Amino acid sequence: MDLWDGFQQHQINETMRIAKGARRDLADEGKRTRIEFVRLEAKINHLALTCQALWEVLRDQTHLTDEDVRKKMMEIDARDGNTDGRMITGPLNCPDCGREGHSRSRTCLYCGGPLSAEKHLFEP
Ligand SMILES: [Zn+2]
Repeated sequence: MDLWDGFQQHQINETMRIAKGARRDLADEGKRTRIEFVRLEAKINHLALTCQALWEVLRDQTHLTDEDVRKKMMEIDARDGNTDGRMITGPLNCPDCGREGHSRSRTCLYCGGPLSAEKHLFEP
């Protein structure tokens, strides 16, 4: 093996080492993603079960109906001007100072006024 062949072989070995590492990194990332997916799925199932239990307790102890809940869900969904099946997650204008704040904040970052406590008692 002359010097050039040795250099080429070194380059090939180095490239294969890097590719093997990248494959391992991708496999690790895939495992982490699957674990996170399973964790989130379990959390969603738990929240759905909690919502159903709360609704059934409330329904059994009041005169509320499924239709009352559907109407309220549509009202909440429409609060941000979009009926997209989601609660507001974007910016909101502060009713006191008019500046933009995030809907997940309970108070305005600038003036400390209440932002959305009434609208988002149970923010997901
Ligand atoms: Zn404000």
